[in-house]
Amino acid sequence: MKKTITYIFPVYNEEGNIRLLYETLCSSVEKIRNKYDLEFIFINDGSTDRSLSILRELSNKDKRVKVINFARNFGHQVAVTAGMDYSKGNAVIVMDSDLQDPPSVSLELISMWEKGYDIVYAQRRTRQDTVFKKFTANIYYRILSKLSDIDIPRNIGDFRLMDRRVVDALNQFREHDRYLRGLVSYVGFSNTSVLFDRDSRHSGRSNYPLKKMFKLASDGIVGFSNAPLRLILRVGYFISLLSLVGIIYALVEKIFFPKHVVSGWTFTVIAVLLIGGIQLVLLGVIGNYIGRIYAESQNRPLYIIESITNSDS
Ligand code: UDP
Ligand code: MG
Repeated sequence: MKKTITYIFPVYNEEGNIRLLYETLCSSVEKIRNKYDLEFIFINDGSTDRSLSILRELSNKDKRVKVINFARNFGHQVAVTAGMDYSKGNAVIVMDSDLQDPPSVSLELISMWEKGYDIVYAQRRTRQDTVFKKFTANIYYRILSKLSDIDIPRNIGDFRLMDRRVVDALNQFREHDRYLRGLVSYVGFSNTSVLFDRDSRHSGRSNYPLKKMFKLASDGIVGFSNAPLRLILRVGYFISLLSLVGIIYALVEKIFFPKHVVSGWTFTVIAVLLIGGIQLVLLGVIGNYIGRIYAESQNRPLYIIESITNSDS
């Protein structure tokens, strides 16, 4: 039986790109169309332009094109998730719809997959982005890999191929504030990457304004690390230590240099410092429990099995 390959395209106001994307895609997959069954899933993420009608038109002409139309804009990460939920392929490829990810590269991803890799990342050799975006991305990935125990490969966007096993594993993660890049690293499996040159957006402008970028960035950190929570306890200990010094100082002043001290000062200083330190430490303790509640409420699968040898079932 032929294997199926699914392509997933999240679409948000891409009327100027869809047709060209479709044509480029079709000519790219020309070489493999006899070898595999193909499925192109477009998720219309609440576009306000003509994207949906263009997509419907394509799906009428080409049965390989499937369109999932969201009732409103749910965001890129959720759109990709819906695509994965509905995908049937033995391998699933996720791409941008603005031709920043060249469809021809997907063939290289597929050939690496055929060599046995479960995840094949398309890694940017060069990127046509602003200096600001490159710089912030670089710092961000450094911080993220320090804070969390997952290791997200650098210079990697959402352009990647995943084997069915990986997609099935990812589909078990139903958390709301999704950071897919993190989840893909989190589930594990064998991976490799293929280098490519990332083009600039064909038409329209980026739908990732600074605000959405910040949200994604914080989802990455908050979703994969409780370092911010643990920070409270550390700050608490630090402040307590400082307070102790302050308290000793206040007592020394009071006992040895009583003339320096206004009446009531010693008591006030000690009370403020003591309470401040204690409060932060206690907050940190609460933070630890909240961290656990958070982990439980994310409801992630405990483990992902790659294979079982000699099992009966
Ligand atoms: N996108 C989406 N929903 C959104 C924002 C973006 O489905 O709310 C899609 C968009 O159509 C594109 C992909 O996600 O296919 C990446 O978005 P964009 O190109 O704007 O991001 P950038 O490449 O600038 O990071
Ligand atoms: Mg883009």
